[in-house]
Amino acid sequence: MTFSLHGLAVSSGIAIGRAHLVSHATLEVAHYQLRERDIPREVERFEQALATVKAELGALRKDSAAPGSPSELSAFVDIHAMILDDPLLAEVPKELIGARRCNAEWALVQQMEELVAQFDEIDDSYLRERKHDVVQVVERILKALMGKQRKLRRAGGDEHLIVVAHDLSPADTIQFKSLKIGGFVTDLGGATSHTAIVARSLAIPAVVGLHHARPLIHEDDLLIVDGARGVLIVEPDARVLQEYRLRKSELELERSKLKRLKSARAVTLDGVEISLQANIELPQDIVQVKEVEAAGIGLFRTEYLFMNRETLPSENEQFEAYRSVAKAMAGKPVTIRTLDIGADKTSQALRGTERQAPNPALGLRAIRYCLAEPQIFLTQLRAILRASQYGKVRLLVPMLAHVKEIEQTLMMIWLAKEQLRVEKVKFDEGIEVGGMIEIPAAALALTPFLKRLHFLSIGTNDLIQYTLAIDRTDEAVAHLYDPLHPAVLKLLAQTIQAANRAETPVAVCGEMAGDPLMTRLLIGMGLRQFSMHPSQVLEVKHHVVMADAEQLALKVGRILRLEEPDKIRELVERL
Ligand code: PEP
Ligand code: MG
Repeated sequence: MTFSLHGLAVSSGIAIGRAHLVSHATLEVAHYQLRERDIPREVERFEQALATVKAELGALRKDSAAPGSPSELSAFVDIHAMILDDPLLAEVPKELIGARRCNAEWALVQQMEELVAQFDEIDDSYLRERKHDVVQVVERILKALMGKQRKLRRAGGDEHLIVVAHDLSPADTIQFKSLKIGGFVTDLGGATSHTAIVARSLAIPAVVGLHHARPLIHEDDLLIVDGARGVLIVEPDARVLQEYRLRKSELELERSKLKRLKSARAVTLDGVEISLQANIELPQDIVQVKEVEAAGIGLFRTEYLFMNRETLPSENEQFEAYRSVAKAMAGKPVTIRTLDIGADKTSQALRGTERQAPNPALGLRAIRYCLAEPQIFLTQLRAILRASQYGKVRLLVPMLAHVKEIEQTLMMIWLAKEQLRVEKVKFDEGIEVGGMIEIPAAALALTPFLKRLHFLSIGTNDLIQYTLAIDRTDEAVAHLYDPLHPAVLKLLAQTIQAANRAETPVAVCGEMAGDPLMTRLLIGMGLRQFSMHPSQVLEVKHHVVMADAEQLALKVGRILRLEEPDKIRELVERL
């Protein structure tokens, strides 16, 4: 039966392919009833998963004994090994498989729920919190059980796989970078959630916030993802399929025409130079950055180096990653943002971030986390400084709101430099330090930022989230996420203009910078530096070379005086 679902368009283009259902941890384990004769095999499968996890923990124990690894690691490995051996987890699920004839994943989750409920009854808060360890061990076993299923199949012929998931964390999504997939759809997620951002950086069509895609779609269903309109069509009829195939080849033709702009200068009709830089998550993204000849890296989201691993990346490992990017960019600017962990970006390696904060987006995130964990911060600063002698590295600090945060950060940078000087390790003494303007408080009281920092980068994703008080990951309020809200435009314009007056370089590195509808608006506000997904650079350049900066400034000046959303949108579309 053919039907369509509507969600949020997060990455344009059209993908046609077969559904591949992907589950996230415990939420979506398969539930099925076994035949009597299959029970022994299911018990054996469970035992094998236990053995796999045991081996994983053994390897981790070895790592934890290595010099320099954090002391908490070995304690945490011991706790997990103990939980794994406990008959409540190692034996009871086997009994459930036999008694209830349920599959191993289902039996394990039932037992986990039972144990978590018992932990919740405990008065002692320390012991009560151990339930998180139980959940983590269960997730490990589930991963081992589902290992084969979770792996993406290879699509046959020229058919692509479309990943269908209820919800995926940014850490899940980043793993798709090493795989070739045709499209991406999820039930949850806002348009600028980090999951959506990573999907976009894969340069494949994606739709999020579909609500019911995962339960309604079956493995191997034929799907069309219309990433521009935010539509998913399931089992299309021949006519619709034909239309979309045509549209898809037209889009591919348009894209290939854009390639001609690769080596063209990004200059407006009236001669204003615009710097179009790229955002990356991992060093491997440099390949796409070079393909479009971006003017530099305007944002390296380093937190992705910390995901999908049990231990922190060491100073050396980080140094190698930063150095490889600095060298590859051969003297073009490489803006390395310090760890922006917290909210939807979590890492098993940073145990504090797993704590369920009452309001994660307003909690211990980004620079707040780094200042609370000076050792982790210092390690990263040292790695970035060491890489700075291999190119034009700049340091960018996320989520600043208070002057004292800037001062403490500058102190930490000073300390890292001092340590390296004593150790006679070389680094760029003149490394520039910039701050992200993504909290309205920073945009509204900008002078101290201009005084203390070398450059600014406006993170519109968070600036919009915090100005409009809507969680960017929550699809229930996604319709309220509006980059053209007059309050957002005022904050943006004020920040750009104040920085220009102070001759402090300012960029926009949020998703607005890569949205072609916003290019003329931002140029009209006086913006001269944009940073976006590499896949957007040529399309934005196409709009830059047809723009007239002086005329746009006049028109945008008029738009900024308006407060009627419909009128603003109409004028922005006509710019
Ligand atoms: C932003 O907030 O706009 C930004 C670029 O940072 P991130 O999306 O990583 O929060
Ligand atoms: Mg941000």
